[in-house]
Amino acid sequence: MPPLYVDTHCHLDRYDDPERVLAAARRDRVVVVAVTETPADFARQLARLGDDPYLRPGLGAHPLLVGRLRASEVERFFAALGQTEYVGEIGLDLSKAGKPTARRQLEVFERILADERVKAKVLTVHSRGAAAETVERLEQAGATGILHWYSGSLTVAERALAAGQYFSVNPSMLRSKRGRRLVEALPRERVLTETDGPYCKVGSRPSTPSDIVTVVAGLAELWSLTEAESADVVIENLVRLRAAVMPTNAVR
Ligand code: MN
Repeated sequence: MPPLYVDTHCHLDRYDDPERVLAAARRDRVVVVAVTETPADFARQLARLGDDPYLRPGLGAHPLLVGRLRASEVERFFAALGQTEYVGEIGLDLSKAGKPTARRQLEVFERILADERVKAKVLTVHSRGAAAETVERLEQAGATGILHWYSGSLTVAERALAAGQYFSVNPSMLRSKRGRRLVEALPRERVLTETDGPYCKVGSRPSTPSDIVTVVAGLAELWSLTEAESADVVIENLVRLRAAVMPTNAVR
């Protein structure tokens, strides 16, 4: 049996042809956590793609869009929680682009994390320019999640690890010095894989879930394991995370 892979952060609904991207992921045995940016996008994606054994739809409220979400859209987020076991993309963005909506972002993120149902989901979390603030909020809420495309300091990463957080690694991170330094510092049992497709590029083209195979090859080199062993490590990490957050549910 060829190895099974996972892309824990992909914006499937942002490709011109999500069905084709998902079909390629299925062919390459890549489970896709298809994050969304708003509850409306989540509903549209569910309607369009329906059930697929390789699809894990994620309910999102992207920090850079939260400032523009109407109160009713925020309520829609909570109303849709029962429809999925994956929540993302959520988080904080205190980079230049996110600064103006910092207060609203904090309010929504804290409210999401305070919901007990959310703590029983797999969370994929954005923290650009807000590593310390994001890690602190997760810790205060007693939530465990996946820090996606983490670009904060190693000191804050240590704190996140101590609180049980996971990190998802993408092709860009393995190419950059800063990203590699982080990946080298992470214990392998806390590493997951992502593409952040189509936003993360491979060469000049948008990445797709199929690029996870290359990410795993990069990890295999760092870990001195075979590619198949490394793929297994990543899948076991997801299974362990799922079991930790949803102990009473059957692992799907
Ligand atoms: Mn993203």
